[in-house]
Amino acid sequence: MPIAYLDEYRDRALAERLVAQIRKVQTRPWVLMEMCGGQTHSIVKHGLDQMLEAALPHTLELVHGPGCPVCVTSLEMIDKAHAIAQRPEVIFCSFGDMLRVPGSRGDLFRLQAQGADIRVVYTPLDCLKLARQYPAKQIVFFAIGFETTAPANAMLVYRAHAEKLDNVSVLVSHVLVPPAIANILQSPANRVQGFLGPGHVCAIMGYREYEPIASRFQVPIVVSGFEPLDILQGALMTVRQLEAGKHTVENQYARILNRDGNPAARQLVYSVFETCDKKWRGVGAIPKSGYKLRWEYRDHDAERRFQVAEIDTLESDLCISGQILKGIKKPHHCPAFGTACTPLHPLGATMVSAEGACAAYYAYGRHLQPSMTGAGGPGRGPHTPQPGPPAT
Ligand code: SF4
Repeated sequence: MPIAYLDEYRDRALAERLVAQIRKVQTRPWVLMEMCGGQTHSIVKHGLDQMLEAALPHTLELVHGPGCPVCVTSLEMIDKAHAIAQRPEVIFCSFGDMLRVPGSRGDLFRLQAQGADIRVVYTPLDCLKLARQYPAKQIVFFAIGFETTAPANAMLVYRAHAEKLDNVSVLVSHVLVPPAIANILQSPANRVQGFLGPGHVCAIMGYREYEPIASRFQVPIVVSGFEPLDILQGALMTVRQLEAGKHTVENQYARILNRDGNPAARQLVYSVFETCDKKWRGVGAIPKSGYKLRWEYRDHDAERRFQVAEIDTLESDLCISGQILKGIKKPHHCPAFGTACTPLHPLGATMVSAEGACAAYYAYGRHLQPSMTGAGGPGRGPHTPQPGPPAT
């Protein structure tokens, strides 16, 4: 059946056909990790994990990686955002979802209510307009995200520099997916045997960077999309490789991306940013896993301009998001899930944004399924399977 519309990627009959194919090739349990928060959201929303659990004789466990950039932005960086945003000469600009992320001093919404000039923008380039409109003000953009958002943020810096808009700077907190995958695979507690790679990131960066990782750690990586059929087909391709003892990078999302990604966007990113060590919330420091501005753009570096010192912060003792982000545990294994920790009062990384694993489990009522809070092993609790992707 040719697929032309979004609803067809959610077709239940096609989803069941893909699950039947997995059933045919799978001979033993496997653990797969999806690397994008959008995939996590889709898996939980459509009950794909429960559909697989109900239909397969062997476990095919889907665990949720550190794929939500809002969730993994470090507490220290959020506290630095606070320190800058509360200065009277600053107009602090951000995408809306960062405003409610709690740092150790509360969230940016609270600071805004106390009178700080904090604005939600729809594109980083809105900051250029503000800089021209308010030449006596300092316009600061909170540049967070994976490789996906890096081109637009790089363009802001590039244009501000070219137009000599000296009152524009960026607080850079970009994180990169390939070093995170390597970090997970190097962990002695690692359980992940195959990855669903991040479709949006690879649309920009291509997937050449993933090939040495697949080869070095002997894990299959299938770059996948976000709709239920994308994820199930990605899972099928990964299981086929695992069963055949293969470990290559494959592209399930070929309708959107190719091996080289978007060379023009990549070139812009590399001209403005260079890699640096980065701390991930819930995970810790990962070598060469982030971007910082190149030396020639240092005058647009908000940390340098405002001299924000290193800030020491502590996460909640209750939070196990570090283990969730590495695929060792799942949200319902956390004693605070749905009780002390909810989307309105998040305690840790994976509850702060809608794409975080804990927030997705909460949004789709997993905290209301009594058996999921028991000790029934990750993903194999005796809860009632959901009907799977909705019929079109
Ligand atoms: S439910 Fe809250 S406290 Fe528990 S792991 Fe998730 S974010 Fe952390």
